[in-house]
Amino acid sequence: MSESFDLIVIGAGTAGMPAAMAAATRGLKVGLIEKSGRLGGTLHYSSGQMSGAGTRLQAERGIVDSPDLHFEDVMRISRGTANRGLVRRAVDIAPRTIDWLMENDFAMHPACPAILHLHEAYKIARSYWGVDGGRSILAAITPPFERARERHGIDIRFGTTVTELLPGEGVRVRKPDGSVATCRARATILATGGYGASPPMFARLHGGAPLFTTASPTSDGSGFTMAEARGARIRNANYWKPAMAGIEDPPGSGRVVWDDVPSLTPQVRAPWEIYVDSAGRRFVAEDHDSVDVREAALARLPGLSFWVVFDQAILDAAPPLLPRYDRARLEAAVRAHPDFRRADTLAQLAAAAGIDPTGLAATIDAYNRAASGGGDALGRKHMPRPIVGPGFYAIRCRGMVLRSFAGLVIDDDLRVLGRDGAPLRGLYAAGEIVGGGTMSGDGYVGGMSVTPALGFGRWLGETVLG
Ligand SMILES: Cc1cc2nc3c(=O)[nH]c(=O)nc-3n(C[C@H](O)[C@H](O)[C@H](O)COP(=O)(O)OP(=O)(O)OC[C@H]3O[C@@H](n4cnc5c(N)ncnc54)[C@H](O)[C@@H]3O)c2cc1C
Repeated sequence: MSESFDLIVIGAGTAGMPAAMAAATRGLKVGLIEKSGRLGGTLHYSSGQMSGAGTRLQAERGIVDSPDLHFEDVMRISRGTANRGLVRRAVDIAPRTIDWLMENDFAMHPACPAILHLHEAYKIARSYWGVDGGRSILAAITPPFERARERHGIDIRFGTTVTELLPGEGVRVRKPDGSVATCRARATILATGGYGASPPMFARLHGGAPLFTTASPTSDGSGFTMAEARGARIRNANYWKPAMAGIEDPPGSGRVVWDDVPSLTPQVRAPWEIYVDSAGRRFVAEDHDSVDVREAALARLPGLSFWVVFDQAILDAAPPLLPRYDRARLEAAVRAHPDFRRADTLAQLAAAAGIDPTGLAATIDAYNRAASGGGDALGRKHMPRPIVGPGFYAIRCRGMVLRSFAGLVIDDDLRVLGRDGAPLRGLYAAGEIVGGGTMSGDGYVGGMSVTPALGFGRWLGETVLG
């Protein structure tokens, strides 16, 4: 096994796989170093909702769209805070990325292209996702990856962790047997993902904000640490904002199981419940159109924590709040999980959940008057029935992390920059390490993590050392 390459790609995930296959296809000698035992990284967890304008699928459906319109929409949703140069490159590459997946038998959901509402919505139908989320993307890119590996010889090393970026171009690795080796290369692409599974790094970058994360356990921020040690800087941590919202499971773990998140998007399921803080106060109109407004209200809550409160009649009549919980699973959760509470009376519910009882009683009273036609002080419109019992429930939800906000300082050609603003020789970055806040600014912009990860990875593979 050679220890010398043209190109080392660190991380065989969303960005690293396309980078390695494109570079190998050009004839470069590629080493792909992956600390886990499998391909795909965060694609095993992600919803994989992508965005791209000017795709062949849009043309087939008669949707008039362009990268220019996509760019305008990203800048509108991010209130001008996303990085213009990198967003420009991302939206220009995006349609090619979507078309490429389609050429590789991507199992596109039949509703695509669509306008989605999980984050602030685009004006035009340019969102795409697979029938099996991120795993559909992985299923599409694995066969061409394996072909490139077979024909062009990608040297992939599973179970091997890069521990240091060497100034003289190359990396230090820890092999599966624990031994240490040096791999040399003319260029290195950092495609190590984010830091959403690193409580210490999250605390350092986000001032001690609590971390409830859906991230892949491999997203430990090691790429950031190594890049900083090599002289890189980190930016855009200030754009951190929690996403609405998930249940900590198992209790006390800081983890949120993405597939289990409650249905809190009013455009998908209009709310029947109310959301209250520990004082028993509602903090936002639960059916507010704007995700940004709801998430900004969530960000102000101590501990990023709130309770979804409803009664038995609502549980029986409403569309499922927790689509993956049937009655048996809900019963089990009420018995065993401290964030699922049920009680006969409102006072008992408040006591069980640690919510201020007077505050909760006053809130429910005011809400019930609003639901009977009184008009809601927070402006909520959808109030199908009051919350009167008998039988009350409270489920605690937490503002969660879907992807890292901070990223390495890079230029528009994806070269990692040092403290003096000059490129660090031979070092490039693609994927979440570029920073969600860089691609989306202070908002979440749909598809602006997965799509640029795939697209930037592939673009670097096509152009690096060219
Ligand atoms: C639940 C969830 C839902 C999401 N939904 C969406 C969505 O709908 N749309 C969207 O745009 N984005 C979404 N995202 C974000 C998006 O999926 C990720 O930002 C993107 O997939 C990250 O790609 P990546 O290549 O940067 O990292 P990854 O795909 O995580 O790959 C990084 C790889 O590097 C390896 N690695 C790390 N450190 C080292 C090291 N030191 N040495 C060797 N190998 C290393 C890891 O093991 C991993 O395999 C979601 C994320 C989550 C968690």
